[in-house]
Amino acid sequence: MILIFNHRIFLAAVFISFFSSGSYCGVISGDVLHSQQNIEYKQVTVIGSGYVGLVTGAGLAELGHTVICADINKEKIEQLQQGNVPFFEPGLQEIITRNINCKRLLFTFNIASAIQDSNIIIIAVGTPMGTHGKADLSALKAVVKVIGENVNGYKVICTKSTVPIGTNKLVQSLLEECTSDQVKFDVVSNPEFLREGSALEDFMKKNPIVIGSNSKQALSIIKDLYRPLCEKGILLITTDFTTAETIKYAWNAFSATRIAYINELAQLCNAVGANIFTVITGMSFSDQLLPTHAIKPGPGIGGSCLPKDTRALIAIGESVGVDLSIVKAVVQADLKQRQKITEYLYNLLDNAVQGKTVAVLGLSFKANTDDVRYSPAIFIMNKLLRDGAYVKAYDPQAMKNMENIIPDVQYCKTLEQAIKGTDAILILTDWDEFKNINLAWVSNLVNKRIVVDARNIWNPKTLMDLGFQFTNLGRKSG
Ligand code: NAD
Repeated sequence: MILIFNHRIFLAAVFISFFSSGSYCGVISGDVLHSQQNIEYKQVTVIGSGYVGLVTGAGLAELGHTVICADINKEKIEQLQQGNVPFFEPGLQEIITRNINCKRLLFTFNIASAIQDSNIIIIAVGTPMGTHGKADLSALKAVVKVIGENVNGYKVICTKSTVPIGTNKLVQSLLEECTSDQVKFDVVSNPEFLREGSALEDFMKKNPIVIGSNSKQALSIIKDLYRPLCEKGILLITTDFTTAETIKYAWNAFSATRIAYINELAQLCNAVGANIFTVITGMSFSDQLLPTHAIKPGPGIGGSCLPKDTRALIAIGESVGVDLSIVKAVVQADLKQRQKITEYLYNLLDNAVQGKTVAVLGLSFKANTDDVRYSPAIFIMNKLLRDGAYVKAYDPQAMKNMENIIPDVQYCKTLEQAIKGTDAILILTDWDEFKNINLAWVSNLVNKRIVVDARNIWNPKTLMDLGFQFTNLGRKSG
């Protein structure tokens, strides 16, 4: 079988060869060759044949789809057409060779016809760092323009490149601008999390699949595309554009933060004579106690340990000449979090806090303890009192301890007493008693329907339906 530049001819040849030989080129997932039942294989075009585009294209071909990898770099495409991968990535050469031989993978620099030939278009061009740290979207916009000029039927346009929040909406409106009303398409945000060096393994076996769109039809098509991976247990997250785009940047910044922190700790180990590898081994047990999925946003870090020990570590660093800037930033971010919660409340009260009655629900630094040491409630209630608010407080266990620190608020015996007649409710601790409350009952007790839910425990939709004005911590719905 000769690889021909014009992939329409190529596909026709594939078709003929497939049926005339009567052979079936099976799908290899993991180490097992098998034919997959009940999977509707797709024809996909991947635009941009770099690390992400080629791994995606080869990976999808390996799953059984037919993939056209397109790129403007003619030299790169010619190399690929000859079966040579232009960079090193473990295992990639093998699966590219195998899928070329299985006639599921082809390469072209004719981007226009590659777009016309598939109903799923994946954009995987570079989005390098531009001025002031902003992502340079020029390659992406150029691709969107070519797509707009060549849409010849319903297509799902998937953005796999890492793009700033809001870009998929922009892609949608750019496409709308350059297509007629008759042309139907949908956009899906589908960020990639692979790491060079283990890219195939990440794509085929490890990383979650994130797909965000405002179109149910498009989500269902892309779900189908990845179904062979989902059936092997890979996590699929279906969401909106904004959340999908945010996951990618949050993931990368989190990884960068953890690496930078370990680097700082290595400096500290040098200075104090500790062994960084043993420190990392010891620390890794904290991942089990506090895995990322168990971390919930709240009004700030409290309790007897984390606030004092972060500050003590900074001081230890300073005593041996090591600037623990990540830990310093954590302390600063935490102080700002308390201020932000107060700001949310003040905004809802139109900054007229004086004389207002505020119910503070939850005084301990977390639920199921009466400990109020360094509790965010201390900072927030003191601020409210300074600004002339009347504070009614309720906590199932921590009122006695808090009364020793702040005597000047009204401590209420019941939740009902605390919220009755208030101008605003501020939830600071996620006690079960607050979670299981009837919000319609709350709405009838208060003077004004204003809530700052700093624990995300009250359902936003119910609050909205009951006419509350509210702010929570990043929980849009449900
Ligand atoms: P890359 O530079 O390796 O590949 C980009 C390819 O796009 C190049 O081959 C280039 O020729 C091609 N291209 C540029 N403009 C084009 C156009 N107008 N039409 C067609 N092709 C065009 O980039 P990459 O490392 O594969 O990254 C792609 C995207 O994926 C970036 O947004 C990146 O941030 C993201 N990402 C990268 C990685 C990674 O580890 N490399 C991991 C996850 C996500």
